[in-house]
Amino acid sequence: MNALTIEKLQKIYSNGVEALCAVDLRVEEGDFFALLGQNGAGKSTLIGVVSSLVNKTSGKVKVFNHDIDNNAIAAKSCMGLVPQELNFYPFETVLNILVYQAGYYGLPRKIALDRAEKYLHLLGLWHKRNEISRNLSGGMKRRMMIARALMHQPRMLILDEPTAGIDIELRRATYDFLLELNRNGTTILLTTHYLEEAELLCRNVAIIDKGVILEHTSMKSLLKQLPHEHVVLDLQSAATVENLPQLEHVKLELIDSLTLDVTFDKKMTLNSVFDALSQHGINARSMRNKTNRLEELFLTRISQHAQAR
Ligand code: ADP
Repeated sequence: MNALTIEKLQKIYSNGVEALCAVDLRVEEGDFFALLGQNGAGKSTLIGVVSSLVNKTSGKVKVFNHDIDNNAIAAKSCMGLVPQELNFYPFETVLNILVYQAGYYGLPRKIALDRAEKYLHLLGLWHKRNEISRNLSGGMKRRMMIARALMHQPRMLILDEPTAGIDIELRRATYDFLLELNRNGTTILLTTHYLEEAELLCRNVAIIDKGVILEHTSMKSLLKQLPHEHVVLDLQSAATVENLPQLEHVKLELIDSLTLDVTFDKKMTLNSVFDALSQHGINARSMRNKTNRLEELFLTRISQHAQAR
């Protein structure tokens, strides 16, 4: 079954901006799905429509087969939303915010307290349960919002830029939490412009730009389309710009005398690049992958699409 089915979704804001142009999108039940796009691409608008916070202009949206127009309550009960903006009462305690949320869904207080305890532990916030929410750090506030969105145990969790404002260490813990939640059956849809985030977490992905879906595919096949490979080599001995060789299909750039940035066409194998460098007296001590592969692809796609339009 599809967790989310979107057909020909259009949103034109009152100022005339067409934020979504006939968007088609499907997210299967159990998927971990990324909606990737730069600022202003239309991600929040799409999520806003799905969660009934934004009125669509036209098109159809179904959540676990419940049409959001005809069956809004059933659709809403299937999803939990973590919006970008902080939208909780700042003078309430963390525990009460979760328990009140459960109340909106008619859950008995005992169950609400048990669930709040479970999610606060899992998200590393139990020790903050009696803290006024305003006093939490930015990262804690966001994780509290994740806990809040899970109180009615939705089948699909929707996160708008989930780790914005969360520091690196907590980001890793948040990723682990989300991966475990997904392994246990919750469908997850997230928006992000952290391309690494999508690569680390998601199985399937759609790229959106100016309200148009440019790509809707598996993360694996998206990565395969990358035109180039990037590696960074730590060199055995110092090199200078002058002694870098000219190699076909390979671009070399010294970061410093012992660190070489290598971009090569996918036609080449890593070994053939190493051999060619070695013939010119350049040998690597170790190698790192560069992390911006997805970003490169993303930008390539956007420019291809802009040329086609
Ligand atoms: P993203 O979440 O990808 O950053 P948004 O969905 O927020 O993108 O915005 C998509 C486009 O719609 C942008 O051009 C933005 O300026 C415009 N937009 C968003 N919200 C509104 C609004 N309430 N009124 C008018 N235009 C809006």
